[in-house]
Amino acid sequence: MPADYHLHTPLCKHATGSPTEFAAQAVRLGVPEIGFSDHSPMPMEFDDWRMLDAEVPRYLELVDEARAAHPTLPIRLGLEVDWLEGGEVWIESLSRRAPWDYLIGSVHYLGDWNFDHPDLVARFSSYGVEESWNRYWRLFGSAAKSGLFDIMAHPDLVKKFRHRPGGDLRRYYEPAVQACAEAGVAIEINTAGLFKPVAEMYPAPEFLKLAAEAGIPLTINSDAHSPQEVGRAFPQALELAKECGFTHLARFQGRRRTAAPLE
Ligand code: ZN
Ligand code: FE
Ligand code: FE
Ligand code: ZN
Repeated sequence: MPADYHLHTPLCKHATGSPTEFAAQAVRLGVPEIGFSDHSPMPMEFDDWRMLDAEVPRYLELVDEARAAHPTLPIRLGLEVDWLEGGEVWIESLSRRAPWDYLIGSVHYLGDWNFDHPDLVARFSSYGVEESWNRYWRLFGSAAKSGLFDIMAHPDLVKKFRHRPGGDLRRYYEPAVQACAEAGVAIEINTAGLFKPVAEMYPAPEFLKLAAEAGIPLTINSDAHSPQEVGRAFPQALELAKECGFTHLARFQGRRRTAAPLE
């Protein structure tokens, strides 16, 4: 079983279950290692689905409580950080706030549009699918190249509601994979996509094949927002990783990466 590094906590206000309960579920399933990466604070009041800046100490405490309750399970500390143009200074300051094991970089915003929010999905028609994809992948590339992140989250999240331009989508995937390769940043197979309207994991197999060829390090993560989602669809994700040419999975500790062979 892979490690599961993309787990949320109730501090983001749209997840349920304590980190200790997430850890108990990992132990039950035989997930050998987990890590929390809840939605990071922003420097200003920004939206209603992330921890507040003042809650960072509570976040560290919750993760420590899970560690104390499950001493045999390695539990890593991370954050899922939104990439916004001009956000570099904030992210650098966040990176010094705690002994993070990894930072996950995410693109959930195209400018002020939170495009993966179900209430804002109508904007795909005013914005245009092609333009949404162009803008999304430009941001994904700049996030990867920033060097601020260890793992890039749900690489083709923009497909969440089944919006996809025509033609060979490798025109979007190739520059994104190139950006990850240049920066030495890992990606994830995020199994949560299976349970969204698109009903596929992120990213697409074509993206994964290019990433495997380019030697991009891989993680397999559930993006669990409740304990029963820990390790969800991991056997399928492992199969997909192998089919696409991956031979190893990445592990993180203290922002250093190691590789473990895929069984
Ligand atoms: Zn979330
Ligand atoms: Fe996300
Ligand atoms: Fe997440
Ligand atoms: Zn996520």
